[in-house]
Amino acid sequence: MLQARASSSGGRRGPPGSDTLKKAFVKSYGCQMNAYDAARMADVLGAQGYAATESVEEADVVVLNTCHIREKAAEKVFSEVGRLRVLKAERAQAGLDTRIVVAGCVAQAEGREILARTPAVDVVVGPQSYHRLPELLAESHKRRVVDTEFPIEDKFDHLPARRTQGVTGFLTVQEGCDKFCAFCVVPYTRGAEVSRSVAAIRAEAEALVAGGVREITLIGQNVNAYHGAGGDGAPASLAGLMDALGTIPGLLRLRYTTSHPNDMADDLIAAHADNPLLMPYLHLPVQSGSDRVLQAMNRRHTGDAYRRLIARIREARPDIALSSDFIVGFPGETEPEFEETMRLVAEIGFASAFSFKYSPRPGTPAAEREDAVPEAVKTERLARLQGLLDAQRHAFNQSTVGQVVDVLIEKTGRHPGQVAGKTPHLQAVQLDAPASTIGTILAVRIVRYGSNSLFGERVADAAAAA
Ligand code: SAM
Ligand code: SF4
Repeated sequence: MLQARASSSGGRRGPPGSDTLKKAFVKSYGCQMNAYDAARMADVLGAQGYAATESVEEADVVVLNTCHIREKAAEKVFSEVGRLRVLKAERAQAGLDTRIVVAGCVAQAEGREILARTPAVDVVVGPQSYHRLPELLAESHKRRVVDTEFPIEDKFDHLPARRTQGVTGFLTVQEGCDKFCAFCVVPYTRGAEVSRSVAAIRAEAEALVAGGVREITLIGQNVNAYHGAGGDGAPASLAGLMDALGTIPGLLRLRYTTSHPNDMADDLIAAHADNPLLMPYLHLPVQSGSDRVLQAMNRRHTGDAYRRLIARIREARPDIALSSDFIVGFPGETEPEFEETMRLVAEIGFASAFSFKYSPRPGTPAAEREDAVPEAVKTERLARLQGLLDAQRHAFNQSTVGQVVDVLIEKTGRHPGQVAGKTPHLQAVQLDAPASTIGTILAVRIVRYGSNSLFGERVADAAAAA
C-alpha cells in the first residue's frame, strides 16, 4: 500500500485569507505502475492546491487507485469504499465535503458498475485519464462522473512536473500490453502497448535526479517491449533508452520491470554486461514450468526456451539475481505439470519471486474454461512452491553475509543512528550511519541476515574498529 503524498503548495479551500488547507489522501493497490500513477495523481492534486495527508479522516478528496489483477485485489476496493461511505456521512454532518474517486484498473474494467454498486463514489477514472482529475472533480459537484476513455491526447503531456521524490523513483516508459496471456486482464484494462519518447523520458528522469533521485526504475506492463521514438525519430530499444539515460549527471543506478521472456532482445542482454548503471537484478516472469500449461496460458515460450534465455543472461552477467512470477492451479494443471514448475525453480534458482493462485478474471479466455483446479489443490501447490522459493531467497540472502556490497542509502533506519538502503541485488540493508549519507552509495560489509533484512557495517567503520 502506498499513500502518495501530494505536495503542499498552500492551496485554500475557503475564501481567500482562510487558512483551511484542502487535503488529498491517495491510496494505491497492486503493481509499481499503480504506485507511479498514484504519485502522479498526487502531483495533479498538488498542483490544484491539495496538501497530502496520510489521515483519510481529514481528506477532502480520497483517491483509491485500484488493482484488478486478481479477484481479491478487486474486492478490496468495494470493502474500502464501504468504510469510506460511513466517513463521508460523518464528515457531511460536520459540514465537510468529501469527494471519493475510484481510479486504476478496477475503474477501467467496471466503470459505471462502480457507481451503481457504490453510491458514495463521486468519480470513476481510468488509468489513461487521471490527468483530467481536476475537471472531473469539479464536474462531480453536478453529477457523478465516469471517465474510462482511452483519450487521443497523451496524459503525460498534461501532467504537472513531478513533485513526489525520494532517493529512488519509478518512471513509466511504456504502458499497455499486446501479449494477451489467457489469464490476464492487463491488455483490457491498460489497452494496447504504447511507448513514450526517449526525449520525454529523459526530461522526466532529469527532473527526478534534480529532485534528489539517484536510482530510477523504468516501468511498464511489458517494459522490454519498449520502442519509443529516439532522437532521430526511429524507435529506440530499452537498452538504447538506458544508454541515453546513463549520461544524466547524478544518476547512479537503473533498473527496469516487468519484462516478458520473448522481448529479452540481444542488446538488452548485452546491456546487463555493458551498462554500468544497470543493476544485476532481473524480474522475468515465467508463470509455469510446464510446456502444455504455458501454451494454454498463451505465453508463447516453453520452459526450455526460458532456461536457455537465463543461461545467456547469466553468461552476460554471472552475478545477476533473478526474480519471477508464478501462477499455480491454472485451469487443467495436473500434478505432474505443477511438478515441472517445481523442477524449473529448483534448476534455475531465484533470489526472490511472486507466486499466486490462479484467479479467474472476467473477460479473459481462461475464465471461460470449465476445468478449474479445486481451491484446496491450488492452496497446497502454492504452499509447496512458496516453501521452495522462500528457501532459495533465504539461501541467496545468507550467501551475502561476509561480502562487501555497494548500498544505496535511501532513508533513515528503524532505530536512531541507523540508515536503510538496497544492494545492487535489491536486498534491503540496515546499518549505522548518519542521515547525511542518504542518497550516496556506501561500501558495506554484510554481517548478519535477519528474516527480511540484511544488517551491515560501513567498511570504513569496520576497518577503524579492527
Ligand atoms: N507483464 C508481466 C508479465 O508478463 O508477466 C506481469 C503482469 S501482472 C501485473 C503481474 C503478475 O500477476 C503476472 O506475472 C502473473 O503472475 C499474475 N497474474 C496475472 N493475472 C493473474 C490471474 N488471473 N491469476 C493469478 N495471477 C495472475
Ligand atoms: Fe498480462 Fe504480462 Fe501477459 Fe501482458 S505479458 S498479458 S501484462 S501477464
